Amino acid sequence: MTLADAEAFAVAHGWPRFRGEQAWRWVHARGARGWGEMTDLGKDGRAAFAEAAAIGSLELAEVQTSRDGTRKLRLVTRDGHSIESVLIPDGDKTTQCISSQVGCAVDCQFCATAKLGLRRNLDPGEIVDQVYLARRLLAEVEPGRRITNLVYMGMGEPLHNYDNVLTSLRILTDDKGAGLGQRRITVSTSGLVPKLERLGAEDVRPNLAVSLNAPNDAIRDQIMPINRKWNIAKLLGALRAYPLEQRRRITFEYVLLAGVNDSLADAAQLARLLRGIKCKVNVIPYNPHPEAEFRRPSPAAVDAFQQECKRLGLPTYLRTPRGDDIDAACGQLANRVDGAPLVPLRLRKGPPPAPPVE
Ligand code: SAH
Ligand code: SF4
Repeated sequence: MTLADAEAFAVAHGWPRFRGEQAWRWVHARGARGWGEMTDLGKDGRAAFAEAAAIGSLELAEVQTSRDGTRKLRLVTRDGHSIESVLIPDGDKTTQCISSQVGCAVDCQFCATAKLGLRRNLDPGEIVDQVYLARRLLAEVEPGRRITNLVYMGMGEPLHNYDNVLTSLRILTDDKGAGLGQRRITVSTSGLVPKLERLGAEDVRPNLAVSLNAPNDAIRDQIMPINRKWNIAKLLGALRAYPLEQRRRITFEYVLLAGVNDSLADAAQLARLLRGIKCKVNVIPYNPHPEAEFRRPSPAAVDAFQQECKRLGLPTYLRTPRGDDIDAACGQLANRVDGAPLVPLRLRKGPPPAPPVE
């Protein structure tokens, strides 16, 4: 529920509107997970809410910690699907990478999530609960560290789950709740052109990242089948028309695949392609996983690609792999158990999953 939904909910149950706001603040600002915690609601108020509503959509089932401090959380939905979210510390900052779907329908050839196919969309509660469970976990294991940045770059294509993602953005950016700044949130998409046009007209304004991954249609067609529907010209056309606030730019993600899209000629073509767009490029050296046969270019090749882009005037940054020892890096989220190859997700029957373990 957004705050407005919670207020309407209270009124519909014959309670004062402010009761809705009170309960909502407990959940979204203070992270309450039980009605018993809401001390100022009164015993009767708590009992009434407990009968009419439920808090929390996910259970934290597992936490893996990488040697670089990255933590991967496995979270289980009420109907037994596992999803993953990653906490990435970087100095004082902590970025959380969240999922928007169970699996993904887009089928990019280099991505482990793609191999799951699309199981289902996450609802707004399941999207925001990833943040609240991570917030709780951090308070326990690293008090003082806070989630400062949020990226919709986990499992799923956020713009395929447009309405729920938008609602989650409204909830998370509400000052009376978690109060995350819009400038600290990034939504990443494989490039659904009509949805990009819609997103540009919304009142919530997250940063935008686009997974380009190729300097021309011939290469992009091969590695991202979605390009056959919305090719680079259509995608860049929508992005040139995208209303950007002052001092903001679009991020292009570019997964570097050895022998596929990593030549100096590719870099030059990329720099030409993006000329005139307010943007930067994040180069992501391919993170290997058992479901795809691509290779990561050598560090020298990665460096040469980046330098060539920069030389041609394209601001280009290297995204170093974080948490790859626990399969938490970009493109590796696929619910593997014990490092084994992909296990198909199954619907869980019976009682809810076990409490968190680390
Ligand atoms: N579906 C959205 C959000 C997921 S973000 C999107 O594709 O933008 C996932 C990012 O990781 C994308 O930029 C994708 O190009 C990148 N990625 C996928 N598989 C990867 C891999 N094996 N190695 C490195 N990056 C990968
Ligand atoms: Fe889906 Fe993004 Fe993976 Fe492509 S890279 S399959 S859009 S999650």
